[in-house]
Amino acid sequence: MTESAEKPVAPVLSLVVPMFNEAGNLDRLFDRLAQVMADLGESYEIVCVDDGSRDDTVARALEHRRRDPRIKVVELSRNFGKELALTAGLRHTSGQAVVMIDADLQHPPEVIKDMMREWRQGFEMVIAVRRDRDDESAVKRLAAKVFYEVFGRVSEVRLPPGAGDFRLLDRKVVKVLNAMPEHARFMKGLYAWVGFRQTIIPFDVAERAHGETKFNLFRLWRLAVDGITSFTSLPLKVWTFMGMLVASFALLYGLLFIVKTLILGIDVPGYPSLIVAITFFSGVQLISLGVIGEYLGRVFAEVKNRPLFVVREAHGCGDDVDKE
Ligand code: UDP
Ligand code: MG
Repeated sequence: MTESAEKPVAPVLSLVVPMFNEAGNLDRLFDRLAQVMADLGESYEIVCVDDGSRDDTVARALEHRRRDPRIKVVELSRNFGKELALTAGLRHTSGQAVVMIDADLQHPPEVIKDMMREWRQGFEMVIAVRRDRDDESAVKRLAAKVFYEVFGRVSEVRLPPGAGDFRLLDRKVVKVLNAMPEHARFMKGLYAWVGFRQTIIPFDVAERAHGETKFNLFRLWRLAVDGITSFTSLPLKVWTFMGMLVASFALLYGLLFIVKTLILGIDVPGYPSLIVAITFFSGVQLISLGVIGEYLGRVFAEVKNRPLFVVREAHGCGDDVDKE
């Protein structure tokens, strides 16, 4: 490798950029980042995590790296999803502060200046909160709203509405996140779980510079289920109450039948209600089984204890990093 000459000096700021098929955005991204970093005048590194892109993202990123060795490239062996790409990125940073930013320029790099200012004032986590979600479809907006509502009610942590992965983390926070072993990584929940001194700065989401979002409704559904199951076991417990409720109802109904038969004698109607009851409660039972399955599947994933992600090659990341 040609990188052995590099001295592992920890920079002040590390940027983590997850990339999945973002080749078309890289020139603009590195341009904008370089400008902002020049204004800031801090030492920095850019840790690009290639999440198994099928286009020439890696080649393009490495090309930029040849011109500027502060750009580092962590190649994952396949697509692991954004949460794990971020996890991999965090583990390859060495800066005192770490900012995670999307590759599609939806997160304006200029906001990093404000984040650094807040960080200098002593905040350990600076969360950039989007002002509105106008850029998204009505379905996605509604889904997000329902998710935050449900999550807020059932989970042990609170998510600030509109907060995403665009945020600054102090090294202290990064250390804690790096030490978390869990496989089902719902980052937004983990950030909230770790605590620390947090502050919020609003920003306007930009249009995606190039390409399309990688999150279709199915992936968002998976993310939402991951989030809920990682932060509450309420869905498992509600079935106990559901069962008690249904059983008491059945008991009362049975008593009613006995009394009715004693007074009025036997009659046979009830076929439709029987069918409705059977299908309804089969459905309820299947749902409860499904919920148990969701948790069991996660327990299974955790006990297998496989690595969270696999790195093919980490260009420019020396031994100074917190790889666990
Ligand atoms: N991303 C990733 N792995 C994935 C999906 C997305 O690393 O499996 C990256 C993507 O390249 C981008 C960021 O995550 O830098 C946000 O993705 P996207 O813009 O598609 O999501 P949205 O902005 O619609 O939430
Ligand atoms: Mg985007």
